[in-house]
Amino acid sequence: MKQILLEAPGRFAEREAEAPVQAAGHALVRIEKVGVCGSDFHAFAGRHPIYTYPRIIGHELSGVVEHAPVNSKGVERGDRCAIEPYLTCGTCHACKRGKNNCCERLQILGIHVDGGMQEYLSVPTELLHKSTRLTLDQLALVETLGIGAHAVERSELKEGERALIVGAGPIGIAVAQFAAEAGADVHIVEKSEWRRAFVERMGYSSSETADGRAADAVFDATGSATAMAESLSHVVPSGKLIFVGLTRDPVSIDDSLFHRKEVTLFASRNSFGLFPRIIRLIEEGRIDTSHWVTDRLGLSDVVSQFSSLTERKTLIKAIVDVNHPD
Ligand SMILES: [Zn+2]
Ligand SMILES: [Zn+2]
Repeated sequence: MKQILLEAPGRFAEREAEAPVQAAGHALVRIEKVGVCGSDFHAFAGRHPIYTYPRIIGHELSGVVEHAPVNSKGVERGDRCAIEPYLTCGTCHACKRGKNNCCERLQILGIHVDGGMQEYLSVPTELLHKSTRLTLDQLALVETLGIGAHAVERSELKEGERALIVGAGPIGIAVAQFAAEAGADVHIVEKSEWRRAFVERMGYSSSETADGRAADAVFDATGSATAMAESLSHVVPSGKLIFVGLTRDPVSIDDSLFHRKEVTLFASRNSFGLFPRIIRLIEEGRIDTSHWVTDRLGLSDVVSQFSSLTERKTLIKAIVDVNHPD
């Protein structure tokens, strides 16, 4: 089978490999679509703290089951599935509390271990989430959408509350969709004019800088330490601030403002456990994925085209079509 290896920062290579052996408790899955994530761009640039090389990246995955043992998820040969990429230990402090997303030994397919930029993958059956109604593109978007779903869950946002989202990249858009689904009044702050127009086509109001109205929940989806620090000034007294985007830089918080408003600050990390709910919301038409995919490439194109993707100003989500003729 064909696979694309990120050999080192800045360098992909295509190679032939044996198809994986289906491990016990695993299904053999033919990978169909791989969403390209911001963290993949950081890995390519050598700026992501977690990635090691060489690595087969790709953690936003959909595929079709080739072989599966009898399993509790009822997944069978031919099923279209979203692949949840989170391998958790189940025994650490976080896992025991049901907070597997914070697993101390968390391994993510495509980040800590090899992921989806290859034609076949052996996947634990409990990580497969099938849908007969969603397209393979939609199934590959579930992980990304989950980042927004989890952030909104953390905020306990209520109907009629105001949500301010800073940054209209994929994370910000995912947050906006779940905040709107929760019944919040959503406003997005985004510097790029193209992205503002994009989210306005999705039905959200937006502005280049904060519009002066404080929000019950402010979500940072920029991963910029400066923007994260500034976000505090947009929170109502007793409101919430949720850091969804992440940075390696320290974030400095104006403590007098933080105390005066008695703001609650949350971190939000991955989307473990949310796949079934997200799939159901897309199936019911409550989360619209029609705007998401802005760019496409074949698996072999990754070698030559990935670096140009990183420069595209009009990119929201690129999808790699794994099993299509180039
Ligand atoms: Zn991602
Ligand atoms: Zn654990």
